[in-house]
Amino acid sequence: SGSASGSTIKQVKLERESELRIEVDSETPLKLRLLNGSAEIFGSELAPEIWLTFPPRLKFAVFTWYGATLEMDGATETDYTADETPMVSYVNVHAVLEGRRNRAKASSSNDSEASQGPRVIVVGPTDSGKSTLSRMLLSWAAKQGWKPTCVDLDIGQGSITVPGCIAATPIEMPIDPVEGIPLEMPLVYFYGHTTPSNNVDLYKALVNELAQLLETQFARNAESRAAGMVINTMGWIEGTGYELLLHAIDTFKANVVLVLGQEKLFSMLKAVAKSKPNVDVVKLQKSGGVVSRNAKFRQKARGYKIREYFYGLANDLSPHSNIANFSDLLVYRIGGGPQAPRSALPIGADPVANPLRVTPVNIDRDLLHMVLAVSYAKEPDQILSSNVAGFIYVTDIDIQSATTLQQSRWLCSVVSGKTVVAMAEKTVLCCK
Ligand code: ATP
Repeated sequence: SGSASGSTIKQVKLERESELRIEVDSETPLKLRLLNGSAEIFGSELAPEIWLTFPPRLKFAVFTWYGATLEMDGATETDYTADETPMVSYVNVHAVLEGRRNRAKASSSNDSEASQGPRVIVVGPTDSGKSTLSRMLLSWAAKQGWKPTCVDLDIGQGSITVPGCIAATPIEMPIDPVEGIPLEMPLVYFYGHTTPSNNVDLYKALVNELAQLLETQFARNAESRAAGMVINTMGWIEGTGYELLLHAIDTFKANVVLVLGQEKLFSMLKAVAKSKPNVDVVKLQKSGGVVSRNAKFRQKARGYKIREYFYGLANDLSPHSNIANFSDLLVYRIGGGPQAPRSALPIGADPVANPLRVTPVNIDRDLLHMVLAVSYAKEPDQILSSNVAGFIYVTDIDIQSATTLQQSRWLCSVVSGKTVVAMAEKTVLCCK
């Protein structure tokens, strides 16, 4: 059975430059600790002897540079050791970035070019290990005292907050192997869908907003400017997806493009970079440990991610249920024109007149079970350029009486002083 008991303890000895790849059981957590030697999980070092508890379904690797012995307690879907990894090439990239950070730090902060540390963008098809490489580069930099900025443009999975958002946050310590990227002070823009094709203009507009905001922060903060950023992207690399990659490279002024696991993408980007002498395009091997996840798994993962926002990773948060009068809420949608499906319109007609138009949404049963983002905007016309404070999940809508009882019930949790929570299949912004 999958339940952990004393008898499930096992020891694993890892040779230098090898890793233990684990997929935790789908039902029960796994405990693991470092007995001796040294080891890291995606760039974050393990403290000796301390048991770590990994939640069900987590997929990860424990890597050692010099050899280690690990102890595991609990069931796994799979666990095996591998001695062929691309880790040496990854850490070499880190070393080059480190050199650039040092040069940026040493230069006069009046020179905006020279004082800018590396702006790294990680690109590649789905399941090529982009998030994992981004995480390693951030953790290794943080371990050496830098505070690099983590930027996540992947609205499909969302490593910083719930899916459907683009976000950025400074990384001040190696990323916790269990908790993931810290949620203390993220800058989050709400897109509201999991695919950018839904509203490409909105996606681009939000990328522009985020980049602009980071630019002003960098201008004021020499430390984070020198540390630079690591940008994780979507796995959509064909057609419009490719155009969005180019857009992101330009918008964030990326100067290092790391291409994982695809020759074609590498040569295309390399050709584009010919006209941009300060952009380095580097090809990196995909790790054999990266686990492919199908559409169903991804959909489930999104659900868990939303759940995690409200309830915490270990069910340790209790979201408050609140009741609000309709009059207390202003709900808006971006890109909401006539909501007629494309199929109902004449061929060639565009169902959305202006993809960036902000339109008020009537509160009705359609909002049930949606995740709304709470915008910092004071006026509707600021919504597009405003980041969000958190999310609410609509659990009930009461429209019994047109005059008195119009109330909606929502679920929200307060995490470190912020209202935090989930998402909708429609772009809905809630402006309080
Ligand atoms: P996406 O298609 O969502 O953009 P991605 O390219 O960012 O995916 P990752 O999220 O980095 O890919 O990796 C996919 C999964 O494989 C993750 O669950 C990750 O933890 C796992 N993984 C990555 N590298 C390893 C490894 N060496 N050993 C075991 N699991 C790994």
